[in-house]
Amino acid sequence: MSVITEVKQRLDMVELVSEYVTLQKAGRNFKGLCPFHSEKHASFFVFPEQQSWHCFGACGTGGDIFSFIMKKEGIDFGQALRLLAQRGGITLSPREAPSKAEDEKKERLFQINESAAEYYHHLLASTKAGEAARSYLARRKVMPETIKEFRLGYSPDTWETIKHYLLGKGYTEKELVEAGLIIEKEAGGSYDRFRNKLMFPICDIQGRVTGFGARVLDDSLPKYINSPQTPIFDKSSILYGIDKAKSAIRKKNLVIIVEGYMDVLTAHQHDWQNVVGSMGTSLTEKQVEGIKRLTSNIALALDADLAGEEATLRGRAILAYSNAEANVILLPVGKDPDEVIREDPAHWQKLVEQSMPILDFAFQSVIGKVDINKAKDKSLALEKLLPLIHEIKDPDQKFHYVERLASALKIPRWNVEAALQRLKTARKKPQLGKPTEQSLLARQLVSSRVEEHCLALLLQYPELLPLIQELSLSPEHFECTENREIFVEWQRSSEISNLESKFDRGLLEHLYYLLNENFPPVVRESEQKRHSVLSDCILRLQEKLSRKLETEKGEALEIEREKGGVSSELSKLEEQGIKSGQQLQDIFVKKGGKSRIQ
Ligand SMILES: [Zn+2]
Repeated sequence: MSVITEVKQRLDMVELVSEYVTLQKAGRNFKGLCPFHSEKHASFFVFPEQQSWHCFGACGTGGDIFSFIMKKEGIDFGQALRLLAQRGGITLSPREAPSKAEDEKKERLFQINESAAEYYHHLLASTKAGEAARSYLARRKVMPETIKEFRLGYSPDTWETIKHYLLGKGYTEKELVEAGLIIEKEAGGSYDRFRNKLMFPICDIQGRVTGFGARVLDDSLPKYINSPQTPIFDKSSILYGIDKAKSAIRKKNLVIIVEGYMDVLTAHQHDWQNVVGSMGTSLTEKQVEGIKRLTSNIALALDADLAGEEATLRGRAILAYSNAEANVILLPVGKDPDEVIREDPAHWQKLVEQSMPILDFAFQSVIGKVDINKAKDKSLALEKLLPLIHEIKDPDQKFHYVERLASALKIPRWNVEAALQRLKTARKKPQLGKPTEQSLLARQLVSSRVEEHCLALLLQYPELLPLIQELSLSPEHFECTENREIFVEWQRSSEISNLESKFDRGLLEHLYYLLNENFPPVVRESEQKRHSVLSDCILRLQEKLSRKLETEKGEALEIEREKGGVSSELSKLEEQGIKSGQQLQDIFVKKGGKSRIQ
């Protein structure tokens, strides 16, 4: 038995969830207030028999024990596996656990940073040396509570303070270099990296200090320096303040991304706890990845001057790596959120409300700058906007923007479409075999095996990948988180070696299992057969999901009725029920068979 299966068998969904949510019995199931959005009426259900959960309210998500803990703790699959295995008393064998030595090394680096943060904070808060930094913060109107919450610190104007402090704690010079806190001299010896700076500990989503940002206390340059890349610090994957913002982001179902440390502090101080900082650079795909687990609504606060250029760059990262909705909050020229919020919180509130879709904004700013009577300008606008349009996943939306671009530049639509086509890699579309009698093979599989079968086919025969889009197979169709994780990565980069480098042991084991799945000769030998088996699998997964949702909704509805029902929730559920019924109908129509659900 794989360790993933073992975890699922050993742990009880209801028990785990009730540590986070107050659950009430509701028939055979349990319900409570959704931990992922804020609501007054319980629409979050746990289904013990299926060991699954679903929110019928605003977030509309669901899944298994892994997806629950990943979402709740903001961690990835590997971390969830370790956490749950530990809870279930399952020892991960060395093959499943990431190399122990590496883990221990990282753990030490976290401890070093923790000690350093504590010490810097002490120097700021309660020593004479910290006075200049304290008065700087007072001038910037940072309150004592904020200083404490974000554990701001001060690194003194000396060469070996943090070094001696940490050596005294038993860490080695080599470890301190590795943590990025000291720098080795070529001639031998070493010295503190951060001197006479205001220190901002940068934490991961779990609140562990991964590195530091540091600001000068005067006007000298550079204004900011950061920890270098270390085994635990990768600036491009972290958002400043995420550990303190995560629950507000979930509650408000919105994250606001600003640039600087001070912007984040001021925002939190004014009750905008869903604000995080990108730390200067353009938003990266890794940052978007992390955010996606918390919300699909992203708002970027951008300076009006630079916004056009930035929006096209950042918008692309957002569109390419998520289905997230992204908006732009336009700041007054030359002002950052820190200033805007401090001067007039109501003005900031208004700017947030007036945010506009990043695509609209990119269009407006690119087209506003070109002279459409000049051919050169036209192609420049195309060059900038086409990559954005290319990333749009929704076909209707894509069509809308193609039309808009064509009319704005006064060129025929087919010209834009042709240019878009050239952008795509010339991928051959497969001929779809008719999924009729040949479906037998897929039908024989039991339901949870369908997921694995589907995934194994995709992994072993990457040329089938275009079918995913054609038949709208999406991550939600995989109920098992381990399958979902593999699917998502495979869809992104169909290279086994990429998957191997990304996954840790638990997922790797599952990956190898899927790669070794033996298909019957008829599948191995015929491409057409593979097409038809896969398309049948996909239809079955879609059917399965719709049915599952319908059953769950039915059960949830029944309870509401018994209780006399709360009308708004009830009608919402009914509406959704009808919707999923319609989805099922569509699937059967697609199958070409007669609908079984008249
Ligand atoms: Zn919810």
